[in-house]
Amino acid sequence: MSTAYFSPPECRRHDMGAGHPECPARLDAINDWLLASGLDAGLQRHDARPASLTDLTLAHTQAYVAELSDQLQRCEQQGEHVALDPDTAANPHTWRAALMAAGAAVQATDLVLDGHAQNAFCAVRPPGHHATRDQAMGFCFFNNVAIAARHALDVRGLKRVAIADFDVHHGNGTEDIIAGDERVLMVSIFQDELYPYCGGVPKGTNMVNVPIPAYTRGAEVRDIVEAMWLPALEAFKPEMIFISAGFDAHRLDDLGQLGLVEADYEWITLKLLDVARRHAKGRVVSCLEGGYNLSALARSVGVHVRALSEA
Ligand SMILES: [Zn+2]
Repeated sequence: MSTAYFSPPECRRHDMGAGHPECPARLDAINDWLLASGLDAGLQRHDARPASLTDLTLAHTQAYVAELSDQLQRCEQQGEHVALDPDTAANPHTWRAALMAAGAAVQATDLVLDGHAQNAFCAVRPPGHHATRDQAMGFCFFNNVAIAARHALDVRGLKRVAIADFDVHHGNGTEDIIAGDERVLMVSIFQDELYPYCGGVPKGTNMVNVPIPAYTRGAEVRDIVEAMWLPALEAFKPEMIFISAGFDAHRLDDLGQLGLVEADYEWITLKLLDVARRHAKGRVVSCLEGGYNLSALARSVGVHVRALSEA
């Protein structure tokens, strides 16, 4: 079995304006690197289908989905641009991109659960982990990973899934959605005192939130993962693991001040794959979150995808 790979072309057309770090070129950098490195040849490419209303309301309120859908479809039909918060904006292609990003995550989950792929990576944008039940924020509209995790539980009947989030920013949206849902264990690391300025006090007993001081290097982050994430994951025995794969904790990324490098992302991925092999039949679905230094992003996704494809 192999690694399913989603990179819907619609995701490239969502654009929040010149100079915005969450830009279409991120996907180009990733796809170029996968091609140039030869990794592309080992991946099972799939076209995504758009998420349905039923998918979206697994993680979001009906009212939010209705309101965002009105707003984004108005942009689509009237060629408008609209700002949802100071750093989150929609263009006429955002609605379609957001549906494909969430849809890819759901479809990846089905492929893996149906045994058509061992694991999957979704190179999608907009990212999702800041989107709460009822609010778009921090470059995010729909919470792709939370929707996919709930799909695995509510639609596909799994009893326990884990979400691992190694983005430099706290996945407050995912926490908002799954805190208190004891079928989900969320483990995360994030830079302390950085956007969205929360997470230090977890909102539920199913959360392992580990804030890390700025300028922490990879070796210490590995120690933290070993001490805080792995025992919790081992005890929880997830039947599937979802990864909020943000690569903005990279040493070269200007949006955060942590010191991870490619080898650290590879190490974390391999550790999560170990847990998946022991408890989850190897089932992993990983979705792109942040990562804004284009070359560091591409190389980091490269080692992450290589680890998935060699699992
Ligand atoms: Zn981030």
